[in-house]
Amino acid sequence: MDFMEPITTYVHFPWCLKKCPYCDFVSFAKAREAIDHRGYADAVLAELRKRTDALGERELRSVFFGGGTPSLWEPEEIGRVLAAITAAAGRLAPDLEVTVECNPTSLDEQRARALRAVGVNRLSIGVQGLDLERLQFLGRLHDPDGGLGALSAALRSGMPRVSGDLIYGVAVGTAEAAREQRPEHAAAEARAVASTGVTHVSAYSLTIESGTSFGELARRGRLPLAGDEGVADTFFAIDEALEAEGLAHYEISNYARPGHEARHNLGYWRGVDYVGLGCAAFGTVSRPDPRWGLRSAGAAPGEAFAVRYRNIASPERYMAAMAEAGEAIPVDSDERLDPETRLSERIMLGLRLRDGFDLEETASALGVPAWSPARRKAAERLERAGRLTIDGGRLAVPKAAWVFADGIAADLF
Ligand code: SF4
Repeated sequence: MDFMEPITTYVHFPWCLKKCPYCDFVSFAKAREAIDHRGYADAVLAELRKRTDALGERELRSVFFGGGTPSLWEPEEIGRVLAAITAAAGRLAPDLEVTVECNPTSLDEQRARALRAVGVNRLSIGVQGLDLERLQFLGRLHDPDGGLGALSAALRSGMPRVSGDLIYGVAVGTAEAAREQRPEHAAAEARAVASTGVTHVSAYSLTIESGTSFGELARRGRLPLAGDEGVADTFFAIDEALEAEGLAHYEISNYARPGHEARHNLGYWRGVDYVGLGCAAFGTVSRPDPRWGLRSAGAAPGEAFAVRYRNIASPERYMAAMAEAGEAIPVDSDERLDPETRLSERIMLGLRLRDGFDLEETASALGVPAWSPARRKAAERLERAGRLTIDGGRLAVPKAAWVFADGIAADLF
């Protein structure tokens, strides 16, 4: 049988020109000239050599350069890393997707062409909003024209797939007198982004994370916040606007023209293994190579399990560690995922998709029962409440209930 298990690769680039106050990704502010572009690529390549076995007998579906701001990374270095990843893969999917996350301040037509030339075929651009006051509140370095200009530059470069990111549910002003973004304004912004001709839009509601500047302000009651009801109205206003523009709402936060769904993210939502490279990168790999030296990797022969590891977060420590000889890979953490845990994750992620997921097929692949009496009872109750559809083994959350998806999934664990 000509079959190879799919796999994807994520490469983390940890620097940005400035840290945004809402961001809890591992990213550090640095000027482009101060970044060791080549040294960081060398470290990622060294890690890849140690992890090559994970890619060797798999079909590589996608490579995603995320961050941080990987559009700051010299395209030549992105090309060097990409070439090594594709060379290590057992086979390349015919429609291999290669994405680079970009900020408008580090993307123009020339850079987009340079990325195209090294094999990148998708750009995901952080536009985030089209209102100057809101962009400044979010700590962004670009203005509305900068965001739209970056989308147009990417499209002019001939890049086949271009996505624009938006953040909604943002209030400006003061905590006492918060001015929320109105749903019709959010819809107008989504329409403006769609009308550039992008093939994909991601629209995320602002979440306040502890450990960020916004988290600290919120803790002290000093952050203007949008109310839940307004955020839900905005979610549906954006949905209506983008569907009318021909972008189908295929995942809670994502819209695509036909055939332009993000393959990398689809892999993640569907539980495909991914090899994470770079500082702070997560990876989830079934049957990891014992030579990696992961603490959680020991298993009885034939036991179905996967390991999620997280690389060392500090770029300097990561670069030093990857330069060391030997096969063991030092990580910040590694966690063994048993089949029940994996099934819970698949429920959580699968219910984010418009088409849902097949619980029975997933459970059977993981070797665990799909339906406990408690899960059956919860599913039937959710179905009666209009929050779940059950079609054979396939479960999905109707769009009207998407704002409750996380709670619905938790009821089914
Ligand atoms: S540009 Fe993106 S990754 Fe960098 S700090 Fe801002 S939100 Fe975080």
